[in-house]
Amino acid sequence: MIGRWIVCAAFSLSGGAIGWWLASHEGMAWGLLTGATAWQLADSFYARRLLNWLRSEQSNETPVLMAGPQPRLPGVWGEAADRVRRLLKNRHEQYRESQARLDEFLEALQASPNGVVLLDDEGRIEWCNQTAAQHFGFDARRDLQQHIANLVRDPAFNAYMAAASFSQEVVIPGNFNTPARPVKLSVHVHRYGKEKKLLLSRDITALEQAEAMRRDFVANVSHEIRTPLTVVAGFIETLQNLPLKKPDRDRYLALMAQQSQRMQTLVEDLLTLSRLEGSPLPGAHEWTPTASLFAQCEQEARALSSVISPRGHQLVFDAGPACEIAGIQREICSALSNLVTNAVRYTPQAGLIRVSWARLEDGRGELCVRDSGPGIAAEHLPRLTERFYRVDRSRSRETGGTGLGLAIVKHVAQRHGAELRIKSQVGQGSCFSVTFPAARVRAVSQAA
Ligand code: ADP
Repeated sequence: MIGRWIVCAAFSLSGGAIGWWLASHEGMAWGLLTGATAWQLADSFYARRLLNWLRSEQSNETPVLMAGPQPRLPGVWGEAADRVRRLLKNRHEQYRESQARLDEFLEALQASPNGVVLLDDEGRIEWCNQTAAQHFGFDARRDLQQHIANLVRDPAFNAYMAAASFSQEVVIPGNFNTPARPVKLSVHVHRYGKEKKLLLSRDITALEQAEAMRRDFVANVSHEIRTPLTVVAGFIETLQNLPLKKPDRDRYLALMAQQSQRMQTLVEDLLTLSRLEGSPLPGAHEWTPTASLFAQCEQEARALSSVISPRGHQLVFDAGPACEIAGIQREICSALSNLVTNAVRYTPQAGLIRVSWARLEDGRGELCVRDSGPGIAAEHLPRLTERFYRVDRSRSRETGGTGLGLAIVKHVAQRHGAELRIKSQVGQGSCFSVTFPAARVRAVSQAA
């Protein structure tokens, strides 16, 4: 500041000295005044230049002052310009750093598999990630500042928001929810800041389906076991309480043996399924010869046919070209055996059952079990491989079916990269085929 007074005094005194030299006392007074005015004008000029330069700064995003040239200003104005420039530089650096941190934070929220919505104190959307936009059908830009209750029009959600008790989550239908393809969202709100809210959404459709399947499965297994168990328990009671003659006792014991066999088969099938689900995928190093596969199945089929129908069936086994299939022998054998025993069980006596193996032109190998049985109506075909799904419940039970056979076949096929296809028409018989990929099939001559 003293510098400014010195410059001002220097201007005035120089003016006064010139005035004295030109016109004595009067000239000195005018000179002093003119000098002071000149200094004032020069000072205002520099102040204006500084002000104009400062005014060119518009916003944080476009730091003009730092990018453009700094005006050359003398004395205190120059120092002020320097300090302002340094302050702005610091502020811009801080702004850039916090902007980068915010961007990183938002990117992390975008990457979240859950939907994230930030709501202000009024319930208006301040920000949402893409997952939330998909869950609720929002437009992540257009719907900003919209009230969430206007966009999510579900009574359960509205009641949840109105109650403002967010200790639990609420389950609501998601965007694209239809009766045929239900979509379920779990929504949980958490409070933060000053009455702001963080809304998290999670797609629980698969979870709910898995839970429903688990419930159905447990109910089905319990039901399947309860029936034979009740029968066996009833016979035991009878045997304990009634003095039966030997033929009656033998008949009851035979029925009990039949029911316990039924339970055993069910448990075996359940264990097979759980093994299929839990064991690693079959590699390509174990090779199963189709000839031995056919020999084993033929034996089983003939034995079963003679047991369940007095006149038996016409069984034709065409093992085709000698090949080997890469995969787990026990599993492939169980799949073929299930298809063949089904054909025998559902085809009336004397009916024709043809089991064949063929190498397709593209190198794939096809196992095919065709029968002249009752056939299956089209509406049942897509559901046949579901666990415990049966078309003819009583026929299935009569012949010792568990309702798990085709589920096992489907699993085995999937694990070996094979495709299970079912073709059938009511009254025209059925054809079940399993097609193995070329990479899993080789001719026996190749193997040597
Ligand atoms: P199940 O032990 O009851 O036979 P599966 O899973 O093997 O169970 O088969 C499911 C249902 O598909 C059967 O209950 C039966 O109704 C039908 N099915 C399977 N194979 C045949 C077939 N060859 N002919 C007619 N219906 C069949």
